[in-house]
Amino acid sequence: MSQPAESTMPSLEPLDVTRGSSGPPRAGSSQFPFALKSPIDGAALSDVVVTPLASLEGMLSAAREAQPLWAAVPLDERIRIIGKVKSRILDRAEEVAKCLNREVGKPEEEAILGEVLPTADGVDYWCAHIEDLLEPEELELDGTSYPRKSGVTTREARGVVALISPWNLPVALPLRTLVPALLAGNAILFKPSEVSPRSGQLVFELFDGILPKNVVQIIQGGGALGAALTAMDVDLVCFTGSVETGKKVALACALRLSPCSLELGGKDAAIVLADANLERAANGVVWGALMNAGQNCAGIERVYVEASIAPAFTAKVTELVLGLRMGVDVGPLTTKMQQNIVVGHVSLARSEGGRILAGGQAVGRGYGYAPTVMAIESDETPLMKDETFGPVIPIAVVANADEAIARANATRYGLTASVWTKNVKRGLEIGKKLRAGVVTVNNHSFTGALPGAPWSGHGETGYGITNSPLALDALTRPRFTLVDRNSATREMWWYPYTPALRTVALSLATLRSDSKGIVEKARALFRLVGGFMLRWRV
Ligand code: NDP
Repeated sequence: MSQPAESTMPSLEPLDVTRGSSGPPRAGSSQFPFALKSPIDGAALSDVVVTPLASLEGMLSAAREAQPLWAAVPLDERIRIIGKVKSRILDRAEEVAKCLNREVGKPEEEAILGEVLPTADGVDYWCAHIEDLLEPEELELDGTSYPRKSGVTTREARGVVALISPWNLPVALPLRTLVPALLAGNAILFKPSEVSPRSGQLVFELFDGILPKNVVQIIQGGGALGAALTAMDVDLVCFTGSVETGKKVALACALRLSPCSLELGGKDAAIVLADANLERAANGVVWGALMNAGQNCAGIERVYVEASIAPAFTAKVTELVLGLRMGVDVGPLTTKMQQNIVVGHVSLARSEGGRILAGGQAVGRGYGYAPTVMAIESDETPLMKDETFGPVIPIAVVANADEAIARANATRYGLTASVWTKNVKRGLEIGKKLRAGVVTVNNHSFTGALPGAPWSGHGETGYGITNSPLALDALTRPRFTLVDRNSATREMWWYPYTPALRTVALSLATLRSDSKGIVEKARALFRLVGGFMLRWRV
């Protein structure tokens, strides 16, 4: 692996892709945490090597050394280097899709459309905008109060970022952070989920040979490694995952007073109004709920439909779901644990009066679960309250939009929500009342693929922001620099404090007040001039 010939960056050793993947333990040892079987058919998956816990401190030191050198590389050169990731991932699209298919079970079409192409778009977006977004901002300073001073705010790299990712979008999600974080000059310690280490390795390899050594390092292993990482002296933790783990991460970061960005679970609602385009709403809800077998933080997990359209809408959704092909349109669940959660939520909802209209059972050789539609009345069941993360569409009938809004908002999460209506103005009005970081009218879920659109949440969904210029608030830190070209021996406000200075201060307060009249202000101005003259005699 060599550096690009035309590189102007400081001479650094090239990236070592074996870093973090070396040494024992290997598969079969008691410390091996990885999924070893494909969720599709139980076939064996390739070997992965665990990163020893003891190597984390060394990796952090190496990242600390590499980061300032990387940040010192001119921005246009960083853009040129990171820009290469676009063709790298596009050229490996099929390989990435096959890896995702074997490892987490998603259909290859979904892998390319949902992970590869949005990543390429993300690289384009950030490479096109980062220069403007990192542009220093001059501060205007009043020359009377602050003579001959100039100030500028710059955005600087946060430093060493720990990036901890889940398994449901194991390529697109880490890259959403890696690309802007690297462009901003950070070094990254990247821990993929133990469920998707092979996809994580593919992400890591996209930077192989183009980045200086140790700017990106991969940490392969289980939750204990993630926990150790959050307890270390990193400058920022970017975490995407469950609420339960997110709270542990927040606590660990709080103890070190380190910032963290948390993108956690969701329980998205879709509100289907009586005037919705029925065909579009049904197709959209089915895709929005079942894409990635429902293992999507922004998957539709609750549908509230107005009574007058409910029978036709429910019938259409059921018909569409019954027409889906397992293994072609809908993959299996990724883990046995996820399958157990879905089985549990559906059977509990059923025992509490929910009616199954389609699906409702595990299928296939792997961790398949038949795409399911349920008619639900009460929201007081885990299927309507907790994150199910499975291919289930629970439909509840509501009397009107107000009831739909109230029920949609009665959740501890708040990632995305949608309103389906032909009346866009009304859809937008309802959208304003929804407790969600993203609201879509007549669509759902896909906006995470838009690199310019902020992705954030309310409540237990967490407070992280990915995508859009707002993501840089976590990935960079502001530095304000002031230069004073004033050659006077003292500033007016420096020592000694004298009666004249008191006069100046009080006169300024009167002059700046909105409640003082013109006469008072004229007197204050007079006193100010006198005060200034006396002040400079000291
Ligand atoms: P987890 O919380 O189980 O794991 C997330 C990551 O954290 C994994 O890499 C995991 O490692 C690691 N981890 C585990 N324990 C700790 C710890 N104590 N400290 C630090 N890191 C730890 O989530 P899942 O992987 O199951 O992901 C699914 C969840 O992610 C869902 O709730 C989903 O809604 C959410 N998500 C949110 C998104 C958003 O944008 N809001 C987007 C996508 C998913 P390991 O896997 O090796 O145990």
